[in-house]
Amino acid sequence: MNSNGNANHVKVLVLGSGPAGLSAALYAARAELAPVVLTGIQLGGQAALTYTIENYPGFPEGVGGAQLGELFQKQAEHFGAKVEFDTASEVDLSQRPFKVKADGGEYLADSLIISTGADPNKLKVPGEEELTGRGVSYCATCDGWFFKDKKVVIVGGGDSALEEGLFITRYASSVTVIHRRAEFRASPILQVRATEHPKMSFIFDTVVTEVVGKEKVEALRLKNLKTGDETVFETDGVFIFIGHTPNTQMFKGQLEMDNLGYIKINDRMQASKAGVFAAGEAADSHFRQVVTSAGMGAAAAIEATHFLEAQAD
Ligand code: NAP
Repeated sequence: MNSNGNANHVKVLVLGSGPAGLSAALYAARAELAPVVLTGIQLGGQAALTYTIENYPGFPEGVGGAQLGELFQKQAEHFGAKVEFDTASEVDLSQRPFKVKADGGEYLADSLIISTGADPNKLKVPGEEELTGRGVSYCATCDGWFFKDKKVVIVGGGDSALEEGLFITRYASSVTVIHRRAEFRASPILQVRATEHPKMSFIFDTVVTEVVGKEKVEALRLKNLKTGDETVFETDGVFIFIGHTPNTQMFKGQLEMDNLGYIKINDRMQASKAGVFAAGEAADSHFRQVVTSAGMGAAAAIEATHFLEAQAD
């Protein structure tokens, strides 16, 4: 809402402030479109929760995830993007300008770039929800510190599980990775680092069936999928890294999505409605890297610029 109580009318509205959203804002700002970014809950998106990012080009020593997010923001703002600490809750894409309701006010947008990212998946086992924040966590950078000299379990077998597990070895006395298969999905370099780390050990072919504890996590109930054996494994904490679900519920019924909820886009980042573009993990279940999300964001802003130019002709 502007000072007259009317919805703010903007040329480009960017939803989300991860690498995709802030790169889109940078490009739209340099095209003099004065984009507004609604940050969502986490400025910098999921990348900001990563302790060190070692594979974003230009930072040979690595860069802190939060620091990289701040640099993206500063660069976009330098060229005229406005970054609002606000979260969109409702959209109406039935006609242009698109209507977007956010906690802090309403927007009318001539074009929309959706970069709302994805959230970590849950195990959906008894005890998980009740003990979240009391030993159950989905973010090593946020909560690793609380497990100084404690026993920690990581669930998952992908890059996130091993990378975050290695990070937690800074604090924990031991890190046990529990994976439902016998082969990791993670990249070979992480597998070598993890398996060679003296604090890390591994339990394969096993799933967690319950998180056990009264005030805080005390143990996990485990089931071996090969033998059917059930055991109880004592631990002070459990970090769950079993993939993500895109934050696209708001667009259901208004945009085409795949069966997992990722927004369908064409090779020009365009979603199923003209003037709506999507970038980053809201539309990409495959690459999910900071560099690929940033590239998608830049491409979405270039296409939004072309779209608005064509409308003006
Ligand atoms: P992911 O690659 O999808 O791996 C998820 C892991 O969780 C898999 O090992 C999967 O087992 C397991 N899993 C899924 N559902 C489960 C359940 N209900 N119970 C138990 N285990 C379950 O997810 P990610 O590790 O978050 O990585 C996502 C993407 O980001 C990937 O493309 C990855 O390369 C990328 N990434 C890259 C870096 C990096 O380059 N440094 C860091 C982090 C993430 P299965 O293997 O049996 O399916």
